[in-house]
Amino acid sequence: MLDFDVIVTGGGIVGASAALCLARGGQRVLVVDSKVPERTACRDGFDVRTVALSPGSISLLQSLGALEDVRRAPINRIVVWESEGTATIDFDANEIGAETLAEVVESNVLVERLWTILTDRVALRAPSTVDAVEHFRDRVELVIDKNVVSAACLVVAEGRRSATLQRLGISVRDYESKSRAIGTVVSTHRPHNGCALQHFGDGILALLPLPEERRISVVWSLPAERHAQVMALDGGGFAAALMHASESALGEIREVEERVSFPIGQSLVSDFNPMPRVVVIGDAARTIHPLAGQGVNLGLEDVRGIEAVVGHLNGDLGANGVWRQFAIKRRARGRMMLGLMDFFDRTYGASGPYGRWVRNLGVRTLNNVPTIKYQLMREAMGVGPLANLY
Ligand SMILES: Cc1cc2nc3c(=O)[nH]c(=O)nc-3n(C[C@H](O)[C@H](O)[C@H](O)COP(=O)(O)OP(=O)(O)OC[C@H]3O[C@@H](n4cnc5c(N)ncnc54)[C@H](O)[C@@H]3O)c2cc1C
Repeated sequence: MLDFDVIVTGGGIVGASAALCLARGGQRVLVVDSKVPERTACRDGFDVRTVALSPGSISLLQSLGALEDVRRAPINRIVVWESEGTATIDFDANEIGAETLAEVVESNVLVERLWTILTDRVALRAPSTVDAVEHFRDRVELVIDKNVVSAACLVVAEGRRSATLQRLGISVRDYESKSRAIGTVVSTHRPHNGCALQHFGDGILALLPLPEERRISVVWSLPAERHAQVMALDGGGFAAALMHASESALGEIREVEERVSFPIGQSLVSDFNPMPRVVVIGDAARTIHPLAGQGVNLGLEDVRGIEAVVGHLNGDLGANGVWRQFAIKRRARGRMMLGLMDFFDRTYGASGPYGRWVRNLGVRTLNNVPTIKYQLMREAMGVGPLANLY
């Protein structure tokens, strides 16, 4: 008999959620992670790493009990605009009769909560190293901390640049970017009123509301040289640069917490099911630019897909063809999102008055054609047909 039905490598938000879904489907699951979760709290205890979760993701995490005691800040409205532009896109939850468009949570608090639940429901090894992986006709075998462990199926959820995928010789196309992102939490003079702001100008700036009325989470993507300049500023200099970049949308920027720098890049695995017994999900399968705020949401769509496959299965999880449709649909969804990010990058990269005129025309049209706009909102909320492509 095999040691487990499924081994999940990587216990981030996506891997941990997948493990819990598999366990509630009756599978015997082992989760292996090279680290244990750690928190990067700021002065008032709010983590600088936040994610905006779509209602689709919220409902999955709630069903797993993963949002109990996790602070959530609702986003009711999203406003996107650019420097020197005349057009603005305004997405308002009221327009489509929704309560919220998304909710902001602290990433590491969510991971900690997921791990608390994991310890009751699955076997967990962390910090642990996967020393070798072998794929056979009837099983996979992993050497974990020098012990051989077997399972019917391996789910790789190790985030970007997965060592296990490299070991298995599975190719991942990496679209390197010279930009980097800065993440932090700041206080503002004006309340955010549950509105998320995205500004294109001095890089791409996203300001997400936090549970306190005058606290926001900042994700600021900048070309490498400008990123280095902004990271080198002291707190006051950074606050001034941020105020300028956001065109003072929330008034004076006051306290600035620790700044964290993130690499940016996009990637896509050659196949989400590269071998009959191997499934790849989350950032290990596809990484997209943080401007979309959709990385975790896409990963949790993978998880819903896994749950759907396992829910209809009677027998071997690694039998030929079990994961084929899932893999084809998830890769198509990944390509679509990468293409969309590329489109945004090119559209907003076009400078000069003509480029700006075309862009503003497109933005105004989108804002004024409710059918297209509402469909876009439903997809971003994880409730449209594309978000259910698995
Ligand atoms: C600045 C920024 C802002 C973002 N904002 C948003 C947002 O608002 N909304 C959103 O949906 N997404 C957002 N994202 C994207 C989101 O953070 C990622 O999509 C998400 O963290 C991916 O989750 P994951 O579980 O797939 O991978 P990870 O979070 O990378 O977790 C991978 C896990 O695998 C473990 N691991 C790694 N290698 C191994 C190994 N060899 N063996 C065992 N374990 C291993 C790691 O320790 C880790 O626990 C943002 C990203 C950035 C950079």
